[in-house]
Amino acid sequence: QVVTRFAPSPTGFLHIGGARTALFNWLYARGRGGKFLLRIEDTDRARSTPEATEAILRGLDWLGLDHDGEVISQFERADRHAEVAHELLAKGAAYKCFSTQEEIESFREGARAEGRSTLFVSPWRDADAATHPDAPYVVRLKTPTEGQTVIEDEVQGTVTIRNDQLDDMVLLRSDGTPVYMLAVVVDDHDMGVTHVIRGDDHLNNAARQMGIYQAMGWPLPVYAHIPLIHGPDGKKLSKRHGALGADEYQKMGYPAAGMRNYLARLGWSHGDDEFFTDAQAKDWFNLDGIGKAPARFDLKKLENLCGQHIAVADDAALLHEIEAYLEATGADKLPIEKHDGLERAMYCLKERAKTFPELIDKAHFILTETPIVPNEKAAKNLDPVSRGILAALTPQLQDASWTKDELEAVLNRFAEDQGTKFGKLAGPLRAALAGRAVTPSVFDMMLVLGRDESLARLDRAAV
Ligand code: GLU
Repeated sequence: QVVTRFAPSPTGFLHIGGARTALFNWLYARGRGGKFLLRIEDTDRARSTPEATEAILRGLDWLGLDHDGEVISQFERADRHAEVAHELLAKGAAYKCFSTQEEIESFREGARAEGRSTLFVSPWRDADAATHPDAPYVVRLKTPTEGQTVIEDEVQGTVTIRNDQLDDMVLLRSDGTPVYMLAVVVDDHDMGVTHVIRGDDHLNNAARQMGIYQAMGWPLPVYAHIPLIHGPDGKKLSKRHGALGADEYQKMGYPAAGMRNYLARLGWSHGDDEFFTDAQAKDWFNLDGIGKAPARFDLKKLENLCGQHIAVADDAALLHEIEAYLEATGADKLPIEKHDGLERAMYCLKERAKTFPELIDKAHFILTETPIVPNEKAAKNLDPVSRGILAALTPQLQDASWTKDELEAVLNRFAEDQGTKFGKLAGPLRAALAGRAVTPSVFDMMLVLGRDESLARLDRAAV
């Protein structure tokens, strides 16, 4: 069974790069009936905060990336990590190193002066335990000094690192606490992780982590190190490029489905497919489709995909997401009649809206207060002549059955009687129904508002 994981360090919000890493792991597992686990790498006590963990969980929740099992805290597993270090000691795959910081420094200085490698070689590596002093020590991994470590990476290909370029890394510090590198390997092993999909800034760590797997005789996971995300200018994505946190995209009103689609395409491709559903993404996602070159963040493309996802979304689900969006932006909860109106209007609002603020703007005719106060442009469409036309129209609508076909027929007939075109009626009708010059179609507004409210608005504008 495939088991993937997302292992963020809780030192800040969930940034776009992290969200994409989580998405790739989620897609890979979900498309294969596997498990997607979540581990918070909170061993750096000075930089880890509960607020950051909360923010990461909120971001994942917004993106709909559900994980299996409990959220694992790496810090809480410190005893287990130390236990493995002691196992390695017992096996002779690790050793106690009593060298002090000063000794290590002077080793390096000497090496530098003689033009040798400054990688520390501990005199304790092969020392007899009988000679051990009663002094503080660290536990180091006995790394092979010859040969090479070969990472068969699903994205980067074969990456070879000479073992003489790796020093004997510390596993346990002198206070007995495990180092991060050990924690990652022990956790991945204990969690049964089969595939490690993460940013390629961790590629060098993989060589070191493999040393621990090998020393323990544990099977290696499949590695896939994905290139980082760059800004539109080709430089590494940074604050300069604008929003970086997933929650900022939520607050800007991008739908989660569009965001998922976009992030999936950020560094991964499936032929020429740009727009796809979650089901397709789960079905198609594979490691072969991940590119070696850094992907560029492109806001236009994100908006385009979001528009397509809004257009095909289920109305009730969309409404639910819009309410979550409003809540995230700190807006008041919608009163029930506006909620209902929005629900009835969803079918027409979702066309051509790329974001929720755009959609909400189109919903102005429902969300605004009544009586309608026309804006400046709309007011121009309510001159005395237009008001007279509206006054003549209302009685004709009184008995119309409130369907799109009939409303269309009535308005066309009326326009003909007036010796004008329906297009000429639209401006005054928009102004009366919404107080604006740009609105959804007049028929859609009338259908959503219903007969009584529509006629009340027309009457009021006609005076
Ligand atoms: N905690 C690491 C990070 O946030 C990820 C480590 C890993 O995936 O192995 O970059």
